[in-house]
Amino acid sequence: MSSDCIFCKIAAGEIPCRKVYEDSDVLAFHDIHPVAPVHFMIIPKEHIASLADAHARHEMLLGRILMLAPTLAKEQGLTDGFRTVINTGRGGGQEVFHLHVHVFGGGKPRPM
Ligand code: 5GP
Ligand code: ZN
Repeated sequence: MSSDCIFCKIAAGEIPCRKVYEDSDVLAFHDIHPVAPVHFMIIPKEHIASLADAHARHEMLLGRILMLAPTLAKEQGLTDGFRTVINTGRGGGQEVFHLHVHVFGGGKPRPM
């Protein structure tokens, strides 16, 4: 755990969140500023600052996070599809430096 990381604090239960899913390694919760009718994030509980900071030992964990996305999206009502975004680094628009996968949808998708 990184003591000054807001997502570590959420993962530890020190800051409340609207939980979507939790197991021993992974947490999913709704984004506080949704960009679509449904918008949640899936994070590893382990502090990994960004995708660029992940190592080979995280391969299974990252695979599990991605494989959870369609299951959780469907559970949240996104039966017609969803978008996944991973912002990496300042140049990639990352604001919270704890790896997270955004999953959102439910409105008209903006063209990329
Ligand atoms: P990034 O730009 O780093 O990919 O996105 C970080 C996301 O975290 C933003 O969409 C922002 O709304 C969300 N966020 C920041 N602080 C909090 C918080 O305390 N709780 C929740 N649920 N979301 C947060
Ligand atoms: Zn963290």
